[in-house]
Amino acid sequence: GPFPHPLHARTPGSWLIHRGGSARAPTLSAMPSPHLSIVIPMFNEEAVLPLLADRLRPLADAMVDDGVCAAYEIVAVDDGSTDATPVLLQRLRRTWPEVRVLRLRANAGHQAAISAGLARARGDYVVTLDADLQDPPEVIREMLTIARTEGVDVVYGVRTDRTTDSAFKRWSARTFYRAQRALSSVDTPLDAGDYRLMSRATVDAVNALPEHHRVLRFVVPALGFPSATVGYRRAERAAGESKYPLARMLKLSVDSVTGFSLTPLRFATWLGLIGGLAALAILVFALGSRLAGHTLPGWTSTVVIVSAVGAVQLLALGILGEYVGRMYAAMQGRPTYFVAHDSLGEPEQPPQDRV
Ligand code: UDP
Ligand code: MG
Repeated sequence: GPFPHPLHARTPGSWLIHRGGSARAPTLSAMPSPHLSIVIPMFNEEAVLPLLADRLRPLADAMVDDGVCAAYEIVAVDDGSTDATPVLLQRLRRTWPEVRVLRLRANAGHQAAISAGLARARGDYVVTLDADLQDPPEVIREMLTIARTEGVDVVYGVRTDRTTDSAFKRWSARTFYRAQRALSSVDTPLDAGDYRLMSRATVDAVNALPEHHRVLRFVVPALGFPSATVGYRRAERAAGESKYPLARMLKLSVDSVTGFSLTPLRFATWLGLIGGLAALAILVFALGSRLAGHTLPGWTSTVVIVSAVGAVQLLALGILGEYVGRMYAAMQGRPTYFVAHDSLGEPEQPPQDRV
């Protein structure tokens, strides 16, 4: 493809543990069963990790037994945890061979941890899931089935019920999604977080993006690949504390807006234009006052000069902003298209009857 990724050079059939050997009855018998990667970022999740393993393992094993997927891997991204998370992960690996631990050298943050997992995941489909069981892992099976029966590249988990989140969290999340939709032209599904399933093509496309502070919940919809949604009920964190303090939420918002919108850069342009009109009005008013004789000597010219110079400065800033914005967009270097299919090298189609 146009974005070669040596990490993804897959050797089919050799990379995952195949369980059993028993004959299974695949539900989608026409298609070969896919390999599934489950990427889970975790930062100091010692409290929740045993609960996660107990709940996820039977589900994942059952998907293999039922032929929903041929094999799976759990990509546990240890985002520089300072508690017992790495120890627990190593211990888990001994009894659960599908667990693969990707340890980051330092805490990189939720989005970066997911990006690291996506870059290494080998599955035909990749699910990203939080470690704290707020997103019920039962939905994975449904996501995978929908992706395959409907032939879509992305299945978003959409929170239909957030009553378990705090009022502040709900309010801030709603404001965040609404503002983002208003400021950028990307059509993001409302209330979709980072619980989603992506096809290999989608993961490759995301990995090929050169930007560093990518906010995946907007980057993925921006690709515009065929998608579907699954509703789920957002649960309470199963154990431990939120790793998302307000400062991190604000950083996520700034990354989201600056990553997808040049609107803030245009503020100065608009203020400059409005300031220019105001300066004209002030000129008329000041001249009127002067003719009416209500003014001190020098007042008219001072007022007019101050307002006009302010407007000109803002306008100049706005123009600079336009150019900076174009440079920024060029630097982001987002591909403008992704090829879905190329018939080159395919065997020729048998001749078709024409009407
Ligand atoms: N997380 C991470 N690195 C961080 C912060 C969080 O990998 O620096 C992980 C965390 O372990 C969890 C997920 O990101 O699996 C979501 O974090 P959390 O549940 O604390 O966020 P909240 O649900 O409160 O927004
Ligand atoms: Mg959480």
